[in-house]
Amino acid sequence: MKNLNKALLPGKTIGIIGGGQLGQMMSFSAKEMGYKVIILDPQEDCPAAQVSDGQIVAEYNDLDKLIELAKACDVLTYEFENVDAEAINEVKKYTRVPQGIKALSVTQNRISEKDFITASGFQAVPHVVIENIFEYHRGVEKLGAPVILKTIRGGYDGKGQILIEDPENVCYADIEHLLMQGPCMLEKKIDLKQEVSVVVSANSDGQKSIFPIIENIHRHNILHLSTCPAAISEKSEQHIYQVGKTLAEKLELVGTMCIEFFISTDDEVYVNEIAPRPHNSGHLTIEACNISQFDAHIRGICNLAMPEIELLKPAAMVNLLGQHLENAKQDLINHPEWHFHDYGKDAVKENRKMGHITILSTDLTVTKQSIENNSIWDV
Ligand code: ADP
Ligand code: MG
Repeated sequence: MKNLNKALLPGKTIGIIGGGQLGQMMSFSAKEMGYKVIILDPQEDCPAAQVSDGQIVAEYNDLDKLIELAKACDVLTYEFENVDAEAINEVKKYTRVPQGIKALSVTQNRISEKDFITASGFQAVPHVVIENIFEYHRGVEKLGAPVILKTIRGGYDGKGQILIEDPENVCYADIEHLLMQGPCMLEKKIDLKQEVSVVVSANSDGQKSIFPIIENIHRHNILHLSTCPAAISEKSEQHIYQVGKTLAEKLELVGTMCIEFFISTDDEVYVNEIAPRPHNSGHLTIEACNISQFDAHIRGICNLAMPEIELLKPAAMVNLLGQHLENAKQDLINHPEWHFHDYGKDAVKENRKMGHITILSTDLTVTKQSIENNSIWDV
């Protein structure tokens, strides 16, 4: 039996389940520090595999291949929350999985996630779980329109969600379609003033790093722009840090996680979701902080000491979706201030996250304006 709390030093091998951009940026951090990295992903030469030492081409739930990965690495991690928690329990026999399965199992289901937020003493968005159209009507009555219907599992970038502005005028077929996949969650649509997130990282000894709060703007439910520091009140800031620390503690966090928040027009702070992994809004930490959310993740799972996080400079990050990528590449010539990231995905698709740009700034208002004035992001 290996000593769970022993530090894993450079030269050791890290296995990552999932080979998208988050796996890629984890791998960049690990490689820079001298670790070896093996990726498990069904797509050959996926973004993370392009910058790693090896790849096992397999589905995420292929137990034999997960065991093969576990045997080949000294520590195992994942880049997304929809990993089979039971499979993780199984592969624990073969390698260290310091993140455990608590954070995974709580956060991969919207019901357990909301129950956990409430049980921890924090405010979740008002919601009801519904299984049929009858319960849908009762739910709308209870919450009051507008509401958002969401699948319990597997949603991302607004997928598996239906916004219902006017309950008198809805497409029942769409609702039935979501309900056919199982119980769904009906959430009150919050009148948003701002959306923010906080990234927290920890090592197996329980030492934590907490990153400065990031403000997020979504377009069509997909993250568009993140800025740091967030323009929020001192009171909200203190509350959000408290939520970050408490939830990290309760989830026995190892590695990096991110908590998304809604701040309503009447200044209520709601916990929206918890991602038990690095997060899109934290990409700006690569250039803006003393260490990035990915460095912190690697330090955490290898049980190295966790530093105090400093914001070296205010920053803005803007996502490059499929429809933006080509124009952004052309425009890169004119922008020495752009830190340009292209994940190397094979298929360019509309609304698919292909890369991002981070800009360090002394005046975020001006920087945000320059992004909004650039026609790249008009589509
Ligand atoms: P995911 O990120 O898993 O796709 P979210 O629940 O975070 O799902 O929803 C994506 C975005 O949709 C949020 O960041 C927010 O902009 C909007 N949204 C989702 N739920 C609500 C809500 N209850 N009230 C207001 N806006 C919401
Ligand atoms: Mg979200």
